[in-house]
Amino acid sequence: MTDEALFSPEEIEAGRVLFARPAVFLMGATSIDGLPAPDLPEVAFAGRSNVGKSSLINALVNQNHLARASNEPGRTREVNFFVLDEKLRLVDLPGYGFARASKTETKKFQNLGRDYLRGRPNLKRAYLLIDARHGLKDVDAEAMDAFDRAAVSYQIVLTKADKLKAAEVAAVTARTLQAIAKRPAAYPRVQATSSEKGTGLPELRAEISAACAIG
Ligand code: GDP
Repeated sequence: MTDEALFSPEEIEAGRVLFARPAVFLMGATSIDGLPAPDLPEVAFAGRSNVGKSSLINALVNQNHLARASNEPGRTREVNFFVLDEKLRLVDLPGYGFARASKTETKKFQNLGRDYLRGRPNLKRAYLLIDARHGLKDVDAEAMDAFDRAAVSYQIVLTKADKLKAAEVAAVTARTLQAIAKRPAAYPRVQATSSEKGTGLPELRAEISAACAIG
């Protein structure tokens, strides 16, 4: 069974049209004072370093180089804002769990992410990216705690699904759903994606367009 049946052709089309709009880098913020005015709907992307966040953002907007791949810890320290034709902002939150970052550095960019979550009335949904091969880790639970505390609606997105067999994706999806069942702000659906193959991207675009009521 594919996920496609969960979305009407109209919803898939609304997502396609939204993400066919030109996307540009707006700004990177290193402190909470430097954020753009909350005058457009935003969706945010969070996840461990190397989870495939840059690849997913690039794949969603059909551009290879919008979000930078983050092999360096420094590159993930800012909150990066991309704007989709003055309709929607995509917000790239600092990656967490990077082994080489110092404790102080880690705290600094985690706090920035947290401050952003707490004070953003135009944030419609956050997407928490989880590597399909690894499933939820303790650091991901900390991120979910932060979303739950900030009462920010969030959805789990599995990345790199192409690296697993369909049955394995189904199994990690089921385990993840079970793990989030009691979390108040978690959206009760898990979207498996592959930026490499394009799997799940039409559905994710449809989700985002619906979450922001942009049709
Ligand atoms: P980020 O640190 O979360 O921004 O992660 P990147 O987008 O830089 O990706 C980390 C690594 O995972 C890179 O080597 C990517 O090529 C790889 N990657 C990302 N998405 C996929 C995917 O959908 N499938 C596969 N097979 N590899 C991926």
